[in-house]
Amino acid sequence: MANTRKYLIAGNWKMNKTAADAEELIKSIVLELGDKNGVGVVVCPPFTSLESSAKVLSEVSNVQLGAQNMHAKPSGAYTGEISAAMLRQLYVSHVILGHSERREYFKETDEEINEKVLAALESNLKPILCVGEKLDEREAGNTLKVVETQLLGGLVNIPTEKAEQVVIAYEPVWAIGTGKTATPEMAQEVHGVIRVLLRDRFGKATGDKIRILYGGSMKPENADGLLAKPDIDGGLIGGASLDAKSFVKLVESA
Ligand code: PGA
Repeated sequence: MANTRKYLIAGNWKMNKTAADAEELIKSIVLELGDKNGVGVVVCPPFTSLESSAKVLSEVSNVQLGAQNMHAKPSGAYTGEISAAMLRQLYVSHVILGHSERREYFKETDEEINEKVLAALESNLKPILCVGEKLDEREAGNTLKVVETQLLGGLVNIPTEKAEQVVIAYEPVWAIGTGKTATPEMAQEVHGVIRVLLRDRFGKATGDKIRILYGGSMKPENADGLLAKPDIDGGLIGGASLDAKSFVKLVESA
């Protein structure tokens, strides 16, 4: 373990698994995981599987439930949207916000993502705020600037006393679902900068407590090197979280 923050391994199932399939996968994960403790584990199935997943997890203390998105408003005429309170009622504890797929396909802006982060915290949901550069931005030498803008944009008006509830996920867009992972050194460089920005924004004590996950083709074969780095506090896992054995292997690496 490279630091004193509790590691977190979160599975982002994206638009995969019907409720019946999700139930099976959750049960396999729970079985595979046994009573392993000490590492935070979160699974984020689609909205339609949250209720049945919550039922399976109600007896299990070492796996928490996350959602993949939410709307910033508490209720109202927003057809197709889901509020923080709706998630809370399904025993959801975490919510992924600002994932690059939301930014790219649904044109979510830093301002909208910030509203969601604030609304999540207001409802005692822990936001997993995703940031990361695209390939052309990296090649143009703009990685750190892009990450800083997304990070600080997402954290506007977050009070220091709530900041510890926030989890950051650094996910280079070119590494998501592509099989290309950032090397541990490349990832640590960005995580180190995020740590400095968090300390500047919230003070050293709080900045040091916030977990920064890596995401982007993380799998059992490359996890050890990444998780050994001082500012990599876990992973946000897409593809490899859809297989119980791979996902639990990642938990064991942390
Ligand atoms: P991946 O996805 O692990 O399949 O690259 C990660 C993510 O998008 O959160």
